[in-house]
Amino acid sequence: MKLLHKIFLALSLFIITSFSADTTVYVCDSSTSVAYHQSKLCRGLKACTHTIIAVTQTKAINTYGKRACKICY
Ligand SMILES: [Zn+2]
Repeated sequence: MKLLHKIFLALSLFIITSFSADTTVYVCDSSTSVAYHQSKLCRGLKACTHTIIAVTQTKAINTYGKRACKICY
């Protein structure tokens, strides 16, 4: 049982670490855009007439209020 407990601890630690690692996403710096993108080259960003900015995924959601793009996610 002790070994199982250790495995469980290591596993949960791994999950927490991988989730907190923030990825860089791209958003169109316009109030009309709704999504953040995995790549600057996503065709969802082609219509963007504003500046494309690189931010963390957390910031894109919390600060910019964007959701994941349906094309690249
Ligand atoms: Zn996209």
